[in-house]
Amino acid sequence: MSTAALLKEISDGDVFDRAAVKALFDLPREDLFARADAVRKDNMGDEVFLRGIVEFSNVCANDCLYCGIRKSNHDVRRYRIEEEEILEVAHRMEGWQQTTIVLQSGEVAADKEDERIERIIRRIKTETRLAVTMSAGNRPHDTYARWRAAGMDRYLLRFETSDPDLFAFLHPDCDLEERIGCLKDLRGLGVQVGSGFMIGVPGETSDILADNILLCRDLDLDMIGIGPFIAHPDTPLAGQANAYAGDTDMFFAAVAALRIVNPKAHIPATTAFDAIFPHAGRDLVLQRGANVFMPNATPGRFRKNYMLYPDKPCVDEDDHQCSGCAAARVWSIGRVIGQGPGHSIKVR
Ligand code: SAH
Repeated sequence: MSTAALLKEISDGDVFDRAAVKALFDLPREDLFARADAVRKDNMGDEVFLRGIVEFSNVCANDCLYCGIRKSNHDVRRYRIEEEEILEVAHRMEGWQQTTIVLQSGEVAADKEDERIERIIRRIKTETRLAVTMSAGNRPHDTYARWRAAGMDRYLLRFETSDPDLFAFLHPDCDLEERIGCLKDLRGLGVQVGSGFMIGVPGETSDILADNILLCRDLDLDMIGIGPFIAHPDTPLAGQANAYAGDTDMFFAAVAALRIVNPKAHIPATTAFDAIFPHAGRDLVLQRGANVFMPNATPGRFRKNYMLYPDKPCVDEDDHQCSGCAAARVWSIGRVIGQGPGHSIKVR
């Protein structure tokens, strides 16, 4: 079948299965990328929303095999950013056209930290007009409910891989069912739900990659973040090659297919793309399906202690530098900065 015929059949049928997603991967890449960009434009327009991410704590009780801030990495200096400093960052963001603050951290058992976060969410919602997205791992329903009541708008929690065995191998502390359960809890509380996965973790096949994309659709996600796996030297996966090391264009093909299968989800151009393609990765992702950019808004002195993977960009910069750079990158590709909070466009 010709490329045009395949794309037509896919858009007419609007029903993807694993084989159809894999057929997308096999299209001539330029055709796939152009199609994804057109689907992005038709559904999300030319606005790129800026959502500053504050990595407010690297304290973590988990030992995810891939992650540089896993509990067993004792070379990491642990930190928690004080409430006042987080609020200062939030106030600065408003002047930089960043309409959402994303608060990300490691995962800890429910304790005083949950109450502290609740207070921070409430203050940000009272003192600024920012939307609040949390990304702090699996938490009890009660914690999610309190954060929601304090004003939390959205939550990011990647399922990382749709393959239950691979998930269990990568996560000694939880299983896939539990993770999906958290996403359902959040949805039930009326929170906008984001998830996603790493591309090319060791052991991933193209069947799994296709299923990852289909699981995003089946979960009816509001936001979907995906990024290439990068081996961290201080983890059990040190030295392991990405499953697509020989064809790094597959990383972009994954985003493009993700957009075609999930036309109405917010899709960020994730930071890991810049680690692999310095200064260019995220721009290319924005031109191949994505519509969100998440500048690093973590105060500079903490950044070297939030190295999820090596070569993470912007470690020597500060929040004001990242904000200017992000805006310039959006303009340089002929797009405009999103106004308003950039909530989910899905109607439920
Ligand atoms: N503790 C939170 C935040 C995790 S960090 C949580 O578990 O949700 C955010 C994301 O970074 C993770 O979801 C994972 O997909 C990604 N990440 C972590 N280590 C990585 C690595 N070595 N390569 C690529 N992405 C990685």
